[in-house]
Amino acid sequence: MRKLTIIGGGFAGLTAAITAAEAGTRVTVHEAHRTPGGRARTAEGTYRTNEGPHALYAGGPHWTWLKQRGLLGPLAPLPPAEGLRFRFHRGGALRRTPPLGLLRQSLRTADKAPVDLDFRTWATGLAGERAARVAAAYAGVALFHHDPGALSARFVQERLHRAAAVPPEAHYVRGGWGELIERMVARAWEAGVRIETSSRVERLDDLPGGEGPVIVATSLPAAARLLDDPSLTWESGRTVLLDLALRSRKGDPFVISDLDEPGWIERFTAQDPSLAPAGQQLIQAQLPVGPDAAKADGVAHAERLLDLGFPGWRERTVWRREAMSQGRTGAVDRPGTTWRDRPAVDRGDGVYLVGDQVAAPGVLSEVSFTSAVEAVSLALRADHLAVRRA
Ligand SMILES: Cc1cc2nc3c(=O)[nH]c(=O)nc-3n(C[C@H](O)[C@H](O)[C@H](O)COP(=O)(O)OP(=O)(O)OC[C@H]3O[C@@H](n4cnc5c(N)ncnc54)[C@H](O)[C@@H]3O)c2cc1C
Repeated sequence: MRKLTIIGGGFAGLTAAITAAEAGTRVTVHEAHRTPGGRARTAEGTYRTNEGPHALYAGGPHWTWLKQRGLLGPLAPLPPAEGLRFRFHRGGALRRTPPLGLLRQSLRTADKAPVDLDFRTWATGLAGERAARVAAAYAGVALFHHDPGALSARFVQERLHRAAAVPPEAHYVRGGWGELIERMVARAWEAGVRIETSSRVERLDDLPGGEGPVIVATSLPAAARLLDDPSLTWESGRTVLLDLALRSRKGDPFVISDLDEPGWIERFTAQDPSLAPAGQQLIQAQLPVGPDAAKADGVAHAERLLDLGFPGWRERTVWRREAMSQGRTGAVDRPGTTWRDRPAVDRGDGVYLVGDQVAAPGVLSEVSFTSAVEAVSLALRADHLAVRRA
């Protein structure tokens, strides 16, 4: 293929750009923001926050791809003592021991859960109501939804397996995901990709003619506007994000996982002290909320957990930030649907759609990755056929 244009320079756009350039294609990326990275950017300044807690899952296809190219970079390993500071909120109290028995009951089947049934009904039939509730809440860490039990049993089962894997799949990029993005940008440049930042594309027709296929690697709502196709929608989560810097105190937990209702608080400096100044701890929390809930409800949920697990946190707070993340945490699948039912990658006429809410398998950013690789492969194949026909 001679030329390829990519709109959007986030994780998906950069994956597509590197893949295509490595196959000998001349690639141009248009990124609306002044720096690439999208939702994988890390804040500049004193506190190196990702947009919400971000983990790289080692079992995903992106892991191997990044590793093969030396792009994983230094990871931030968790000191063993910190792993012992995992806390579980259950029955209104904070506990040190995981409800392994309950989780195992929901995980024990070798069968794939049904697509058509909701997770609550399926897991209750398998392991009882209490185990089903705990398992759904725990899976929340990988799907950012206030009611995982209402989603497709197959969809939640996969995320539960990934989130509860031993040894843990979650790994942390030292310095935040922004560092990973910088390495991907450097690799893209090396491979000859042209990245134009502050370059928002309003309409596909505005692109110069004869530039070959186009990969739209924006969020799904942005793609719907760009392609003037309101049918491009898929459900995602609604999650309150709370970031805190606290003066350090010995004995603070590493994680609080809420098993009464989905919620997750993580002390990121436990594995990567470089994220905050010496003597301070950086905490990032995600509290999924329903469609009618206010940001204050999620914040109140976080504060209840902090009161239980982080003594004196209010007096120790030196910096704080709150946000509502709406539709930004990837696709969730309702009963009766799988990733195959989401908006297709191939839009026809040499236009391809990638991102974390499209028809590709995986967890969270893995969907962006897999769809990006798929789009490049489809575009290359189409070009190859066109050349053969010519
Ligand atoms: C709170 C939160 C926590 C998360 N946690 C995890 C996690 O733990 N693990 C994990 O794997 N994933 C996680 N994710 C998901 C992950 O961040 C995303 O899946 C991934 O970053 C999406 O990448 P993308 O390239 O598909 O989209 P984006 O990052 O949204 O990139 C799209 C890019 O397109 C650009 N753009 C938009 N419109 C235009 C236009 N018209 N012209 C040009 N450019 C345009 C945007 O500026 C942006 O840079 C999390 C996400 C959030 C919000």
